[in-house]
Amino acid sequence: MPLDPDTLLASSMFINASGAIVFSLFWLADRRSPELALWAVGYILVALGLLGMMFLSTAEYPSALAGGAVFLLCGISPACFWLGTRCFDRIRPVGWWPALIAGAIPGLQYVVGIELGRPPASVAATTSLLLAVLYAFNTHVLARGIGRDPVQPGRWPVARTVVAACLGLYCISFVASALVTWHGGASEVEAEVASITIVSVVDNLLGVISCIAMAGMLWERARGDLAREARIDPLTGLFNRRGLHDGARRWLARSRPLAVIIADIDRFKRINDAHGHAGGDLVLTTFAHLIRDVCPAEDSLLARIGGEEFVILLREADPDAARHFADRLRHEVETGGFLVGGERLAITVSIGLAFPSAAETDLTPALERADRALYAAKRGGRNRVEELAAV
Ligand code: GH3
Ligand code: MG
Ligand code: MG
Repeated sequence: MPLDPDTLLASSMFINASGAIVFSLFWLADRRSPELALWAVGYILVALGLLGMMFLSTAEYPSALAGGAVFLLCGISPACFWLGTRCFDRIRPVGWWPALIAGAIPGLQYVVGIELGRPPASVAATTSLLLAVLYAFNTHVLARGIGRDPVQPGRWPVARTVVAACLGLYCISFVASALVTWHGGASEVEAEVASITIVSVVDNLLGVISCIAMAGMLWERARGDLAREARIDPLTGLFNRRGLHDGARRWLARSRPLAVIIADIDRFKRINDAHGHAGGDLVLTTFAHLIRDVCPAEDSLLARIGGEEFVILLREADPDAARHFADRLRHEVETGGFLVGGERLAITVSIGLAFPSAAETDLTPALERADRALYAAKRGGRNRVEELAAV
């Protein structure tokens, strides 16, 4: 089957125009998601670049101005995809200028190279390599986000992986195109046609897949958001009871020693009565910050399972270490600052401690023992740590 470059370019252009339409419609439906607009712009720029290429003759390298314009569009497109991915990942957006300048480099390089009289094949090959760098960077940004969801660490984001793989293949196609431009073909024209064919065949094969996979990323994120909302306590940002049990299941299956700590703020009702519900909420969020600060991030699961009741599941903590940790937490609360309305409140906490046995695969029995220990601490006068031995 003959692969005519003009037909390939036209088909690529329609695929990218379809991507532009899809993401523009998505953005019209959800204007608070700038990634949709940025991805749509990315597709529009590639489609325009390809349209421009279709009007340029493949019998010779384009002039500085025409080639520069086409490669400017093709370079700023991955920059838009990158900015969109940052918005998608809810990473604080960087300035637009660094991305746009990076995206403009391939096009500017083409203009300067041709104007300086360098061999067009070498200038075109360098442009392809610069485009490969932009695609490699996008691949890296997407791949970096794989497997990083703390709420669903075991869930593999299939759509994101597919998009990252597609971008990686685009990057390889640009490198191949550069090599062909340098070394391939009996003539410069043949080499140029071959290099265009490589990139547009890859775009024809991957354009639809990557567009569907990008839409799939939106679905994956929406599902992740729902899962997160179902597992996170909105006031403190810690896990709720469901998130705790989900997270604990994985640890109970393979990690020992484990310790369960239940911390209940003493006489919390009085704080609410004296400072209102908002004052009580402030104490809860301050307490959540405090336990976040004192707990080892990698080896603890933190949850608020009731009004003023918090659970800490500690991994790699033998009974002595857990006792020491619980007493340190109690001490930090007693001596820590709980500022409400400019007033420093004296807060104490009672703590119950228990240790899941090796046979326990569910947190409930250990949680019940820790709860009984907590009530022993309350009965014993509060502001203390009690524990119940493993069964
Ligand atoms: P104890 O020392 O025995 O634990 O006494 P306590 O007052 O801390 O415990 P009690 O169970 O009597 O009161 C808990 C209070 O927590 C009652 C409830 O109004 C309040 N509460 C529950 N959820 C929230 C919340 O989200 N925010 C605020 N501000 N208060 C809450
Ligand atoms: Mg209490
Ligand atoms: Mg309570």
